[in-house]
Amino acid sequence: MKIVTKITKLQLNHPFKISRREKDTYREVISIEIDGGVGEAAPAKFYGETVQSVATAIKSISSLLDRDLDQIQDVMTEIEQTLEGNYAAKSAIDMALHDRLGKKLGVPLYKLCGLNPTKTPDTSFTIGLDEPSVMVEKVLQAEQYPILKIKIGTPRDIEILQTLRDATDKPIYVDANTAWTPNEAVQKIRELANYGVELIEQPTKPDDLVGLKYVRENSELPIIADESVKRACDIPALVGSVDGINIKLVKCGGLLEALRMIHVARAHGLLVMIGCMIESSLGITAAAHLTPLVDYADLDGNLLISNDPYSGVTLDNGKLVLPNLPGIGVLTK
Ligand code: MG
Repeated sequence: MKIVTKITKLQLNHPFKISRREKDTYREVISIEIDGGVGEAAPAKFYGETVQSVATAIKSISSLLDRDLDQIQDVMTEIEQTLEGNYAAKSAIDMALHDRLGKKLGVPLYKLCGLNPTKTPDTSFTIGLDEPSVMVEKVLQAEQYPILKIKIGTPRDIEILQTLRDATDKPIYVDANTAWTPNEAVQKIRELANYGVELIEQPTKPDDLVGLKYVRENSELPIIADESVKRACDIPALVGSVDGINIKLVKCGGLLEALRMIHVARAHGLLVMIGCMIESSLGITAAAHLTPLVDYADLDGNLLISNDPYSGVTLDNGKLVLPNLPGIGVLTK
């Protein structure tokens, strides 16, 4: 099966920073096309992938696509058995196959999954780490978004939250991106709770589940795992250590695995967030189709860039509005 790939540099509206990395001005994504279906991968170096590794991985399994592509479960199982890791690459393929099938059957992806499009949540809008005054500026520019997600994980975290809280009364999610020790996390979360913070994402190191449990037991805010959870098989070990999980398509390997994660998380009584990387409207819209099933959506990667090649999901006062077109439903701009 011929797979067409294309690498795109997404230009960021603002230089973007989180606790563990330097500021970026652009991110690279790779889009693919399989028999009329389109998909995208926004690989993260943190998970060991780049656009080049995605391109190589996709090429290496292209012969597995010489078969009935309607049977997405079988195709993805075979790919999983053949290719280790490379979940961003797998996600792009899974996305393209769902887009292809939706287009072939003439139904939007949410309908293919049996979901109610009116049940989408509001998405949060991310404010990257910066000087508090610059972060306030970004908060003021984010006027149209009803929920903010603030990236912190610095010695100035409390000062940042104090300053931002003076500038807005919106609900705030906080993402520490693994920056704190368990003790530090408990102390900071106690203070952050005073500033109307609604949840804390990944306070501590990904593998320190004992530390996460300690934080959870000593914090009044819900703790959501992100870097600690990639796939459904990671979820049972997290039960008791966190209140919920953040699912990302590029982290887990696509829509099928994301659905599996939602069901496994629910079976364990966990909250579910769907998040994203900095992606175009292609990757964001694919993820948005699953949001009728989740508690929180953090799908703003396409809002942070200035050269989005696609249009797809839109917002109505912050609420995700799914396109009513076959497949993922994105159009090239
Ligand atoms: Mg996160």
